[in-house]
Parts: sequence; C-alpha cells; structure tokens
Amino acid sequence: MRATCVFFHAHPDDESLLTAGTMAGLAAEGHRVVLVVATDGDAGLADPRTLGGRRLGEVRREEATASARALGCARVEFLGFRDSGLDPVHGPVPGAFSTMDVETAADRLAQVLESERADLLTVYDPVGGYGHPDHVQVHRVGYRAAELARTPLVLEATVDRDLLLRGLRWAARLPVLGPKVDPASFQDAYVPGEDITHRVDVRRFAALKRASMAAHGSQAGGGDGVRTLAGLRRLPAPVFRRVLGTEWFVQRSLTEGVRLSDPLAVLR
Ligand SMILES: [Zn+2]
Repeated sequence: MRATCVFFHAHPDDESLLTAGTMAGLAAEGHRVVLVVATDGDAGLADPRTLGGRRLGEVRREEATASARALGCARVEFLGFRDSGLDPVHGPVPGAFSTMDVETAADRLAQVLESERADLLTVYDPVGGYGHPDHVQVHRVGYRAAELARTPLVLEATVDRDLLLRGLRWAARLPVLGPKVDPASFQDAYVPGEDITHRVDVRRFAALKRASMAAHGSQAGGGDGVRTLAGLRRLPAPVFRRVLGTEWFVQRSLTEGVRLSDPLAVLR
C-alpha cells in the first residue's frame, strides 16, 4: 500500500519537533508525504541577523521548504493565513488564523486533501499542545477539513505529557537548554500518557529530524536566551535520539486500550 499523508501544522518549524521523524519514516517507506502550513509564522520571534532585511514570513517559508525537502516531502503547501502571535496584552491581530471562521479555513485545507486524495491527516490535540491559539485552531480546522474531504484517518500529533514533565525536571539540570521552563506551566499541556494511542519510534531518522530543525535558522535566536529548537539541536547524538526519538499521536476513533507503533496501522 502506498498512502498519501498530509501533515497540517500551524507555523513553519512546528513540523520539526512534533512530526519530522514520522514524516521522514513514511517518505522513506515510499509513501507520499505532504506538509501543509497554515501561517507563515511572521508574528514569531527571530534572530534579526538571519533575515537579511527580508520579511520574517518569507524567510520562514523558505526554511520550512528546506526542512520538508530534508524529510523527503513530495509537496509543501502554505495556506497563507495570518500568524496570531502570542501577544499577552493585545491578543491575536485582526483576521489572524486563530480568529478565522473554521468553515472558511477548513475549505482551503479540504481542497488540498481532496486534490491529494489523502489517506491520513495529522492535526493537534484539542488544547493545541502548549495552548497557542493557532495550534488550537489547527485542531478545529483539521477535523472539519477531514470531514469535508472524507479523509479516512486523522491523528493528533502531540506529546506524552507525563514524559514531558519528567523531561523538564531533568532538563532543569542541563545548562545547554538555556532558560529554565517551569514544569508547572505544562501541567495541562498536550495529553496524558494514558491517552496516547501511537508511539512512533523515529530513532532511525534522528539525523533527518536534526536536519529539519537546522533548516529553521531564524528560530535559533530572538527572544531571551537560547531557543528550544536550537538548544535541543545541540544535544549530543545519543541524548538527542533519546529525547526526540519518539513521536506521539492520538487516534480518537480507536477502540480503547489499543496501542500502536505504526501511524498507518489501521489502513494496512
Ligand atoms: Zn506553532
């Protein structure tokens, strides 16, 4: 079976941490892998030295394209919606992706799913991982688009929260990761380990995942201190494989208690 797998992400670089290994694995198996990015990430932080006077969104499109190439994607599609940003005072800019009518946005994604005759679509968990409004919108828009296009399989890309909290406590002792993250701020993020239906072993694709992360050069700086992506990329190879060697998904339609390691298991 040769499947078409569409990975729907909110911003350029979201594919790197959440699904890069799975994408590389499916592409290596001969499946058609498509990356769809909702926004250009132009409200994000960036290291100004990497922009060369260009608009951030333009640079990030190029970076996502390079990342997708490294992972073996057959197509990259940018929906061009406006990045909502994370401004705690003013909230999302008017017309931003997170405030869009779900139906309008879902129509656009459904067109891609239909033209690809997609077998699999990945979205995010209902809380949008760590709660970015654009990530919550990916959940809503993704499910609706799959309904419109009759895409048979939807998986929520997520993180095992229990493992994450353990990892954060461990990382607090590793200076390479830069500013410390308070585990308490992730108490309700992503999904609890018991809800995870798919644990995909991507250790064989660690080098490609690292290349995908490296493609997002503008995300190496900006903000305060070392950014997550850059910090993780500097981990020694054995540690990197351990920290980023698994990717997690939830298939809501799966019978309770079923645990899988292959994202396409139910289609085979
Ligand atoms: Zn994002």
